[in-house]
Amino acid sequence: MKSLWSDADAAETVRRYAGQGIAEDVALRVYTSRLLGGDDRLVLHGGGNTSVKTTATDLLGDRVEVLRVKGSGWDLARLEPAGLPAVRLAPLLRARALPVLCDLDMVNLLRTSLLDAAAPSPSVEVLLHAFLPHAFVDHTHARAVLALTNQPEGAALCREVFGGRVGIVPYVMSGLPLARAAAAVFEADPGVEGLILLRHGIFSVGAGAREAYERMIALVSLAEDRLARGRRTLVTVSRPSPPPVAEIAPILRGALAEDRGDGAWGRWLLEFRTSPEILAYVNAAGLERLAGAGVATPDHVIRTKGWPLIIEPPAAGALDGFGAAARTAIDGYAGRYRAYVDRHKTTQTALDPLPRVVLVPGLGLFGVGRSAAGAAIAADIAVSAALTITDAEAIGRFESIAEADLFEMEYWSLEQAKLGRSREAPLAGQVALITGGAGTIGFATGAAFAAEGAEVVLVDLDEAAAVAAAARLGPHALGLRVDVTRPDEVRAAFDRACARFGGIDIVVSNAGIALQGRIGDLADETLRRSFEINFFAHQTVSQNAVRVMRRQGTGGCLLYNVSKQAVNPGPDFGAYGLPKAATLFLARQYALDHGRDGIRANGVNADRIRGGMLTPEMIAKRSKARGLDERDYMAGNLLAREVTAEDVAQAFVHQALALRTTASITTVDGGNIAAALR
Ligand code: ZN
Repeated sequence: MKSLWSDADAAETVRRYAGQGIAEDVALRVYTSRLLGGDDRLVLHGGGNTSVKTTATDLLGDRVEVLRVKGSGWDLARLEPAGLPAVRLAPLLRARALPVLCDLDMVNLLRTSLLDAAAPSPSVEVLLHAFLPHAFVDHTHARAVLALTNQPEGAALCREVFGGRVGIVPYVMSGLPLARAAAAVFEADPGVEGLILLRHGIFSVGAGAREAYERMIALVSLAEDRLARGRRTLVTVSRPSPPPVAEIAPILRGALAEDRGDGAWGRWLLEFRTSPEILAYVNAAGLERLAGAGVATPDHVIRTKGWPLIIEPPAAGALDGFGAAARTAIDGYAGRYRAYVDRHKTTQTALDPLPRVVLVPGLGLFGVGRSAAGAAIAADIAVSAALTITDAEAIGRFESIAEADLFEMEYWSLEQAKLGRSREAPLAGQVALITGGAGTIGFATGAAFAAEGAEVVLVDLDEAAAVAAAARLGPHALGLRVDVTRPDEVRAAFDRACARFGGIDIVVSNAGIALQGRIGDLADETLRRSFEINFFAHQTVSQNAVRVMRRQGTGGCLLYNVSKQAVNPGPDFGAYGLPKAATLFLARQYALDHGRDGIRANGVNADRIRGGMLTPEMIAKRSKARGLDERDYMAGNLLAREVTAEDVAQAFVHQALALRTTASITTVDGGNIAAALR
């Protein structure tokens, strides 16, 4: 591992922050924190923390010694000075003499010692940072170090690798006892460059930012060098290749879902990962022991639980029994998890017993989360754990902290205090696929579903527009090119969505085309083309949706952008209205035939939506023909209000949430009595 320190970048960082009144030591603290945070071999998702001891002026004008330490909610990779709350150092140092300091008292001490009451809470490892005398202290959960410390003979191995350059601290849970133990080890040999915390991570110290950072790199490099010598490779079991992830994922996702009754489900997102290294791990002989041995570093338990679920995949083409097998495996996992909680629980609230990581031999691994972001974090940590365990086994035998220590971390009072604080969004855990997703109504619908917590797939004929629209919805939304009149492309898009998120729960069949012509003169070809897009494409999309939804076994929701034209034809608009009328009946047919699968089918009849089927030219022509200005034409309805794409989007969201409504058409047209359904 190489030092990424650059004098020019460091100077530039100092210069940039000086303009905001940030002192040089704090600027450099930000600079090297980002260097550490940018390397996933050192730091993953909020893991790791850094600090600098400096001075600050309080409100009364007094110069006080402070510790600026990474605050919770900040990632080292994107750290800013605001993510380094300043805590008065004196009270932290005095806390060392306290006989005990419970977690909630520690949080209170930290918050009342902040210079800024609105600052984020300092990292829970703050006392350890405070008790080490160096100005700069860096802490990571470096993978290579964990591969050495997580061994039966971890301490001896670290002695051999690091010699006298580090102090070695036995495993103690974070908080005052760990800070005290670490300080005692340091004070016994104050010349060390850092501390190894067995089965937890590494600290490095220095008078300057560069010294602490480069000591971290040098020490981790020693660990990497040791792991490169005399390696044994994992013995793998060869197996036939399983069905593709797009076929397995919806079944697995369905098996994980919790039935909340009355058609409501607690659904999960899946994030799939595979690589030659991951395959070597999931195909290892004795995977049960490796995967069951525990976490690589304690705070991973919050994201991944203490161990993953292993599910044997079905043979290719033999998916039928897989759902039942997956449910049996998940029940077994839940039983084991509940027994673990019962062995250790005193007053804590039990967490749900479902896995956050699923290993599938022959295929790869899945991260499981209530959001795509959460699933991705679980997957990142699972991949890192697989690599750590592979390294540990290459030179010895992987061993984690004791089960009681694992429970203590997972059910830490500070973590328990966060439970139930945030209310789940109404569509959390669900995946919505929207055709015509880059258009005005499609994008507004995607945004409305995302706002309710759903993960969104926007498909559109225009690939660049679909990708750009998805990017506007956030880093996890997916944009795909699809010609909805091509069954092979529709199927491929559904497969990609399943591979990306694990499945699909809501489909908004929205893509359409406005073709016109007086019916008596209409070219046959025009009418047939309109039927391809405005009817048959809805059927293709619906069939694919049903295919995925039945695999999940958790019902689903089909939504159609029909049209006022389906019940109230406009002049010369038969080419559009006729297939839309058929699509209205398509919705009813799906409601009728697939209600028994828990699948609901509803539609929206919208009218006069800017950017919908109405082009600016059509608006101009029609308002002129009626002698109205455009605004009056657009608001030409019973409520005299223009209807927007957002109104249509809200109607779709409402239909998705109305669990007892199917075969329903909602009009979103401001009131048009001739188009009212009866
Ligand atoms: Zn740590």
